[in-house]
Formats: sequence, C-alpha cells, structure tokens
Amino acid sequence: KWDVILQALKNEHDISDVSFRTWLLPLEVYDVKDNLITILINDKQIGSDSINFIRRKYGLPLKVAIEEVTNKNYEIEFILGSKAEKLHKEDSNTTSSNHNNTNTALTPTNAYPFLNPRYTFDTFVVGANNNLAHAASLAVAESPAEVYNPLFIYGGVGLGKTHLMHSIAHFILKNNPKAKVLYVTSEKFTNELIESIRNENSNPSQFREKYRNIDVLLIDDIQFIIGKESTQQEFFHTFNTLHESKKQIIISSDKPPKDIETLEERLRSRFEWGLTVDIQSPDYETRMAILKKKEELDGLHIDNEVMKYIATNIKSNIRELEGALTKIDAYSKLEKKEITVELATQALKDLISPNDKKEITADFIAQIVSEHFNVTQAEMLSSKKSRNIAYPRQITMYLCRKMTELSLTDIGKKLGNRDHTTVLHGIDKVTKDLEKDQTLQNAIEVLTKKINPQ
Ligand code: ADP
Ligand code: MG
Repeated sequence: KWDVILQALKNEHDISDVSFRTWLLPLEVYDVKDNLITILINDKQIGSDSINFIRRKYGLPLKVAIEEVTNKNYEIEFILGSKAEKLHKEDSNTTSSNHNNTNTALTPTNAYPFLNPRYTFDTFVVGANNNLAHAASLAVAESPAEVYNPLFIYGGVGLGKTHLMHSIAHFILKNNPKAKVLYVTSEKFTNELIESIRNENSNPSQFREKYRNIDVLLIDDIQFIIGKESTQQEFFHTFNTLHESKKQIIISSDKPPKDIETLEERLRSRFEWGLTVDIQSPDYETRMAILKKKEELDGLHIDNEVMKYIATNIKSNIRELEGALTKIDAYSKLEKKEITVELATQALKDLISPNDKKEITADFIAQIVSEHFNVTQAEMLSSKKSRNIAYPRQITMYLCRKMTELSLTDIGKKLGNRDHTTVLHGIDKVTKDLEKDQTLQNAIEVLTKKINPQ
C-alpha cells in the first residue's frame, strides 16, 4: 500500500517529479506498531539535514494521505537510515536507484535569458558525489528562505555548481513566475558595482535597489570577489539586507568558507549561518550516467565501449567529460569514420595525458575565453572582425602570451592562422586597455584564475 499512499500524496499536492523522486520515493516504512508508523529516511542519499525538511514539508501531507488510503489515523515518526542500519543490517541494498533516469519531458523554454535552459534538476544526474548538494538545492528551491539560508555550495571546476544554481532558479520561477530571482556571477556583481560608482550620472542607489529588492539571490563563483575590499563590503550589506528580510541567498565557490583566505571574517561567519555542502568528483558509475544523459540530450548514438573508455579516462571534471563526447562526435564526422574506441583514443589524445598533469594549451585558453564571453570557438577562429568576437580573440592572444611559452607565430597559428603582427597588435591593444579599464582588469583576473586555479 505504500506505493498507493505515495502516489496519492503526489497527486493531491501536485508534487514535481524531481521532488517526488528525491524526497518521497526513497522513504521506506520501517515499522508499523499500533498507531505509529516509523519511516526511514536514507541519509546517505539525501543527507541527515533533510530529516527536518521532510518532516516539516511532507509530514502532515503524508499523515493525511495515509489516513485516506488506510482509513486509519496514524502518527508518523521519521528516523535516519544510519540509525536504523545499526539495528538492521539488511536494509543496506534497498536503495540502489540512485541513477534513475526518469524521463521527464524536457521543455527548453528559455523565458529567462540569464539562465541556461538545459541546467535544470531534470538533467542533473545524482550520484554519491553530489547527492547532498542536490538534496539541499532542491530543498531550497521548494522552500526558499525557509530551510537553509544561505546555502553555500562548493566544489572544484566543472563539477556542477552552476548547473545546480540554475536548477534552483528554474524551479523557483516555475513554481512562482512572479518571484524575483536574480542570478549573477560574482564578476558581474563587481562590474556593476564599479559601474555604479564610476558613472556619475547613475544613481548609486540603483545598484542597491537592484540587489536588495529581490526574493532570491544566487551568486556564482564568489571566490572571484574575494580580495576586493569594496566589493566584499557592498556584498556584506546586500547579504545582511536580504537575510534580515528573509530572502534566500545561494552562494557557490571553489572552496569552503573556512579555506578562503582573503574572506573577511564577518562574511565568513555569515556564510556559515546556513548550510554548506560540497560536490566531489564523480565516481565511475556517475560518470557513465552523465555520459548517457548527455548522449540522450544531444541525440547521439555512441557505443557503450566508447563510453566506458571515456568514463575510465576522464575523471575529475564533468565539463571535460561532456567535452570528450562532443569532440569524438565531431572528430568522427570530420574524418567520416565510425566511432570506435580507436577513434576515441585518437580524438582525445590531447585530453588524456598519461600522467594526468594538464598543460595549459592555447586551445584550453581559447575555450575558457570563449565560454566567458559567450562566443563559440569557431567564431573565435573565424575571420570575423566584429568587436564582440575580435576582442575575446585578442584577450586569448594576450593570455596565451602570458600563460604559455608559445611564440607569437604559434599563437597566430592556433587562432585561425593569423600572422604574428596581428597577434602582436592584439596583445598591445589589451595591454594598453588594461591600464585604465577596470572591467577588463577584472575579466583578465577571473580568466587567469579559471585557466590556472592555483
Ligand atoms: P561548475 O560551475 O562547478 O564549474 P558546471 O555547473 O558549469 O560546473 O558544470 C559543467 C558541465 O557539466 C555543465 O555542462 C553541466 O551541465 C555538467 N554537469 C555537471 N554536473 C552534472 C550532473 N550531475 N549531471 C549532468 N550534468 C552535469
Ligand atoms: Mg560555474
């Protein structure tokens, strides 16, 4: 009957698939005694912090659903999986459905241009490396400002922080299209702040108004504002205003607050008011599940052996994992060859180096810069001269010169076969602009950190 109860609950409260799958499906009846039902929450899957959330949010609806289905009035009690495991060993393999790819129809409506339509909970693969961050994010998305405030998500590059943040924003906006949700990178926050100070015509309170009159603030990659005193100060006030008026704040970073050296103490302690969760590198099963998801989303058909090859060799970064799939697909089309493990080995030879030490290459720099400025790599290499493409190209030249040993000629070759005078001109331009353009200084700083996180 448990299934029937859960289904009744879902229908009655119009619970979304992802919420259902995350909170309710993993619940198990542990014991029924007289009029008390004990329900087991698997803390390995959703974290021990979730117990209060589930109790508060689903406790009463569950009680009602049980009564409806059984015609009997039960009290319910929640216990955590680990507590019960001590009593009962055989529970351990009842929850293997970590990677259930419930096929929710994807509707990439991009009503929100500042959000990537593909970064939703539905496309996020949950594994042991990120299940706690996922559960906390979903809890916040379901009940903004009621559970963890702030929510602080940290983890290495390309592990899904931005994906989770956009998922939260999408979820909140879908439930409540009127909610004022603001997603910004910390770099954008800084630039807007600088702009509001510099531009004498603009009213500095405009900046404040924008950031303080919202319901949810998501600020991505907070590590990039650290070390900038004025930005930290402004952010401190923004944080306080929002927190005091019970607005949700979600922050991401590459490190936990305690390890961010230049973070002001008062900000650090505020970040720790709420919940801090991490995302780790994915294990093999999760890597495979992510590749399969990507294959499905992109409509690719790739042999399982090839998938295994990728998942075995690319371990630490999901962006690279996905990039490998795209690269192999492109390579096979270019060479007009079928996708085999051999072809994959060829296509990925730059990506998979034997000692796993990544060199900073011109390609890598070009990739980071193009992502940052939202242009495609193809455009960067093309002969297009419009400023929105030429400038990122010149910035790439500048960074290649600074961060690699490549000669001007080599840099030119890598960037769509340009000659060395063009490269020199590009580098000069950026160098000059850097003297006075604070936004550019910021961009270069952020890009340098992205390219070489040490
Ligand atoms: P970060 O912000 O931590 O650097 P991103 O959120 O940009 O990382 O993720 C990098 C890429 O990997 C994105 O394309 C994202 O969709 C994908 N990705 C990360 N984690 C997952 C996941 N658990 N399931 C599916 N895709 C993921
Ligand atoms: Mg990110």
